[in-house]
Amino acid sequence: MKLGLHSWGRYPDVSQVAHSCGWECDMPELMRRVADAHGSTLPYGNGRSYGDSCLAASDQVLYMRTLGRFLKVDWNEGTVLAEAGVTLAEILALSIPKGWFLSVTPGTQFVTLGGAIGNDVHGKNHHLRGTFGNHVRRFGLLRHGQEPLTCSPTENSDLYAASIGGLGLTGVITWVEIQLIPIRSSQIDSTLVRFENLDEFFALSAELDHQHEYSVAWIDCLAKGNKTGRGVFMVGDHAQYGTLAMSERSKLRVPLTPPVSLINKLSLRAFNEMYWRRHPGRRTRQRVDYEPFFYPLDRVLHWNRIYGRKGFQQYQCIVPEAVAKPAMREILGAIADSGQGSFLAVLKRCGDVASAGVLSFPLPGTSLALDFPQTADLEVLFARLDAIVREAGGRLYPAKDAHMSGSDFRQAYPAWERLEALRDPFLISRFWKRVIA
Ligand SMILES: Cc1cc2nc3c(=O)[nH]c(=O)nc-3n(C[C@H](O)[C@H](O)[C@H](O)COP(=O)(O)OP(=O)(O)OC[C@H]3O[C@@H](n4cnc5c(N)ncnc54)[C@H](O)[C@@H]3O)c2cc1C
Repeated sequence: MKLGLHSWGRYPDVSQVAHSCGWECDMPELMRRVADAHGSTLPYGNGRSYGDSCLAASDQVLYMRTLGRFLKVDWNEGTVLAEAGVTLAEILALSIPKGWFLSVTPGTQFVTLGGAIGNDVHGKNHHLRGTFGNHVRRFGLLRHGQEPLTCSPTENSDLYAASIGGLGLTGVITWVEIQLIPIRSSQIDSTLVRFENLDEFFALSAELDHQHEYSVAWIDCLAKGNKTGRGVFMVGDHAQYGTLAMSERSKLRVPLTPPVSLINKLSLRAFNEMYWRRHPGRRTRQRVDYEPFFYPLDRVLHWNRIYGRKGFQQYQCIVPEAVAKPAMREILGAIADSGQGSFLAVLKRCGDVASAGVLSFPLPGTSLALDFPQTADLEVLFARLDAIVREAGGRLYPAKDAHMSGSDFRQAYPAWERLEALRDPFLISRFWKRVIA
């Protein structure tokens, strides 16, 4: 038993008691014991979800990292079969030298296979390859008091679909088989260009997204007026030649949690201005390692500590394509007026590849994600942003959420009832209790 697991944002500040086992065959007994003793439990991957979706309603979680073995790899076909606690970083360490990369990766490699399925994560190539679940061939699912099941598009297909983006509620995923994509180099050929406002972002996205595997933009969340939504647009592709080397950059570390957040209006404004100016106004090509391209924040371990003891929340929403421009303008205007926000605000247009999961977050439209230090003022700002997203027919991402109302959730995710019908009654999170009650 291990005490003191949290979610990434450390808000809500609720500690989880971790229960673990070293072998898949011991998981049914562990699950039964914890659920029977505490009424319910929840699988917990690596705690990279920001809010309360990885926190058990009982605060007693099944810690999955201890199921972390590779079971079978096939470097001809590019498939990996591994226990659900294996992280994406561990897969890359094996697969890159063999010329394979993750089909879809989120902005951190420190997530587990089980967690990547639980939130059906997406990445910079959503416009081309959809979500993580689109590349999951099959997985093992364990439900309280039942024999282990295999789920795939053809076997137990209802549980397969409900578990992808199923927030850990349908059962414990014990092993996973995924499909990788071939690469010739571990480096990325990327093109960067600064843009002056939201209109330019949408023009660049329309022109460049379909020409490149990866596309994303950083935006200055404090810029106002005709500069609203200015930022840096970045596209990239796996280089066609070069080495298949692992990244060897050493990691930095935030050693402790300061009493208050180091992010404030002054530091934020100065950083955003400097970052924007540092990037060229004309298109610039560069070849970079895969780590700084995909995982800039992973360089600093425990970076979440800079937000101080009160923690932080991420606001990630997506609004449909047809209204994306005016809705984003309104959202960014409200954020700039509030003077709050984070260094790394990310804007991304998602495509129309249908997700394999019933409750996946992406839809064809534009997504915005940014962090906010936890303060009393946040409630007012979030209420304003929620109203804009609701009006636009958009939705918030459960993986990042700690505040969404039940009615907003149920309206934005009408398939929630399908998930609830297939939920293992012994698995429930603080998030699910909050939005479904
Ligand atoms: C720096 C950073 C960048 C990020 N960028 C992105 C991004 O670009 N795109 C994106 O989509 N997300 C992004 N995320 C969010 C992150 O990818 C997800 O929250 C992911 O699900 C976390 O995985 P985890 O292994 O830490 O799982 P946890 O956060 O511990 O759990 C996530 C969910 O999966 C369930 N779960 C975990 N393991 C299992 C299992 N074995 N069986 C069944 N259910 C399980 C949990 O119950 C929970 O509901 C980012 C997070 C960080 C910190």
